[in-house]
Amino acid sequence: MVAQSAGTNASSPPPVGTTLSDVVVAFGTLWPVSGAEEWDAPGLVTGHPDRPVRSILLAVDAVDATVRQAVDAGADLLVTHHPLLMRGTTSVAEERYKGSLIARLIRGDTALLAAHTNADVVTTGTSAVMADLLGVTDTVPLAAAAQPNTGLGRVGDLLESMTLGDFARRVADVLPATAQGVRVAGDYGQQVRRIALCAGAGDSLLAHPLVTSADVYITSDLRHHPAQESREQSALSGGPALIDVSHWAAEWLWLERAAQEIRALLPGVDVSVSDIRTDPWDFVIVQ
Ligand SMILES: [Zn+2]
Repeated sequence: MVAQSAGTNASSPPPVGTTLSDVVVAFGTLWPVSGAEEWDAPGLVTGHPDRPVRSILLAVDAVDATVRQAVDAGADLLVTHHPLLMRGTTSVAEERYKGSLIARLIRGDTALLAAHTNADVVTTGTSAVMADLLGVTDTVPLAAAAQPNTGLGRVGDLLESMTLGDFARRVADVLPATAQGVRVAGDYGQQVRRIALCAGAGDSLLAHPLVTSADVYITSDLRHHPAQESREQSALSGGPALIDVSHWAAEWLWLERAAQEIRALLPGVDVSVSDIRTDPWDFVIVQ
C-alpha cells in the first residue's frame, strides 16, 4: 500500500474549491436578480460555471484600465456595478472596445459579472452605503420595492442640522476625488437635516414626494433642464437643495461593503476593490 500524505485520500477527487457557479449562487443571496429593473442586464457576462474562483476584483466599470488590472493580477472574476453589455449586441469583434474587453477577459481566463440595479435596491446597496457614510440615519428607500426596506434611493436624517456648505464639504470628504468635485445648488448657509440621495443617475426621482420634502437631494449626472426645473419649482413651493456628485464616485463607495459581504459568504476567496478612477472626466478649469 502506498503511503498517503496527511489529509488526502486517493479515492476522493481533488478539492475543487469555490467555482464560478458557487459565486453566482452566493451573489444571488446578496443581490437577488429579481430586484433588478426590467431594462437591466445583471449577471454573468463571460466565464465557465465550473471554473475555480480564488480571487475577485470589484470595480464600478469594465473599462480598459480595470480589465487590464483584473487580467494582470490573475483575478478569476471581475465584478462590476455597470453591465458591460446592456443592449442588443451583434458583434464582439475586437476593433470595438467592448469586443476587445470581452476577448481579453476570455483569453485571460477572467470571468465578468455585473451586479447593477439588483445591488442598488438591497438594504446594503449603493444608496444605503452612501447614506451610512454621510451620517444619514434611519433611512428608508425613496422608491420602495417589493421586499421590506428595499428600493432605489434613500432618505433619512442627519443627527443634527448643519449648513448646506458644511454638509457639501462632508460629501466631498467622503467621496473619492474626481475632476468635477461636488456641485451644489442652494444657499451655502441654509440649514439642512433631511437628506435624500440616489447613488448613480437619479434625476428621475427629482419630483418624488420624499425628495421634494427633503432639505437636500444628492445624485449624479444632473443636467441643466431637470436641475433648473427642480430649483424653480422649489423656489415656488419648497424643495431640496441639489448636490451633484460624480456617478463613479458615488457608486465606488459601495464596493468595499460589497467586498466585505462577499468575503463573509465565500471565505478563502481573495476579494479586493479596484481604486482606479473610472470617472471619464480628467480635469476642469475653474473660472
Ligand atoms: Zn451607475
